[in-house]
Amino acid sequence: MNEFADSSTPQRHPWPDAAGRYGAFGGRYVPETLMLALGQLEAAYAEVKTDATFQNTLEDYWKHYVGRPTPLYFARRFTEHLGGAKVYFKREDLAHTGAHKINNALGQCLLAKRMGKGRVIAETGAGQHGVATATACALLGLKCQVYMGAEDIERQKLNVFRMRLLGAEVISVASGSKTLKDAINEALRDWASSVEDTHYCLGTVHGPHPFPMICRDFQSVIGREARRQVYEMEGRLPDLLIACVGGGSNALGLFYDFLGDTAVRMVGVEAGGTSLAPGMHAARFAGGAMGMLQGAMSYVLQDTFGQIGSTHSVSAGLDYASVGPEHAFLHDSGRVEYTHASDQEALDAFQSCSRLEGIIPALESSHALAHAMKVVPGLPKEQVVIVNLSGRGDKDVQQAAHFILAGEEI
Ligand SMILES: *Cc1c(COP(=O)(O)O)cnc(C)c1O
Repeated sequence: MNEFADSSTPQRHPWPDAAGRYGAFGGRYVPETLMLALGQLEAAYAEVKTDATFQNTLEDYWKHYVGRPTPLYFARRFTEHLGGAKVYFKREDLAHTGAHKINNALGQCLLAKRMGKGRVIAETGAGQHGVATATACALLGLKCQVYMGAEDIERQKLNVFRMRLLGAEVISVASGSKTLKDAINEALRDWASSVEDTHYCLGTVHGPHPFPMICRDFQSVIGREARRQVYEMEGRLPDLLIACVGGGSNALGLFYDFLGDTAVRMVGVEAGGTSLAPGMHAARFAGGAMGMLQGAMSYVLQDTFGQIGSTHSVSAGLDYASVGPEHAFLHDSGRVEYTHASDQEALDAFQSCSRLEGIIPALESSHALAHAMKVVPGLPKEQVVIVNLSGRGDKDVQQAAHFILAGEEI
């Protein structure tokens, strides 16, 4: 093996431990009725992880159906505009269905099929994970039902119609705040009594063990490719990785294979909303505290009584009160830095990227771009930065127009 091949081999970190914990975070805080389902999923996943047939089938779908590897693209005009380090975009926006979510949805649906389960349920907030799961189910001939808050169904009509077109049934959840956390509760409730024939396809690196680990592993294809690609193009490791953090799956997907490279800095960007006052943002590391939500211990936005705090972001995919437990661990250990970008900063980056590169980014990804715009001008020209472009912004043009054109109709 030459030096190149040697240094391009990632050092894996050992988390989670056997109890599904990342230090003080993670775990499996669920009712007794769900323990069976989670244990069965953990065992089935352990089997396919080293099963060549399963992994080859998944690789094959990634290549021929999703369009992987997605390009690592040198953003020349964006770089020149900022006048500092070289900026590359990892183009998850070019994956089928327009975002990274398909990586995990396809992996989990393939796992469901392997487990002999003909029905898949999922939760969705903005509808992106619902669309990705409905897509994977159509591809694999599985029955798909998606739980979605009644409020979100009203706000995201286009994605609701997409899911229906793809043959999925969208189930309206009218309890609580009628949004994502209520949809997750309903999906877990369903699963507790349907585990016999049903897989619950959870959409990010959150929830009870083994979900955060499974989702991370499926998304880690992003960083695995980026690592190889940056070696091909620059002959070395990058200096800085930047990704937005909702639940945290696209960020962990990019970061994971670089965690052992201490010289590679990583920044996760949360939704700063309109201000850091309670209820105006979703920056869990800036305004949250340790707490339990949806079956895992992590950072949670909450009031002094431990009630879940309300959140706001211009970007629906980042608008959530908690963050994946592995991020909580990486935050406390200091390995990854976390910051936030405001609604306005994200909207500015959304426009800059569109005009400079001819790429309309998702509003979620625009938070990562906004942070790049802040720090890249201060970095030496020989440094290399990779921004994860988690999705394309076609879904967001209406929302963006509302702000950018001050409500003018498009
Ligand atoms: C859902 C979504 C996100 C946020 O989810 P993560 O699990 O944090 O990646 C980010 N970008 C896009 C385009 C999304 O659809």
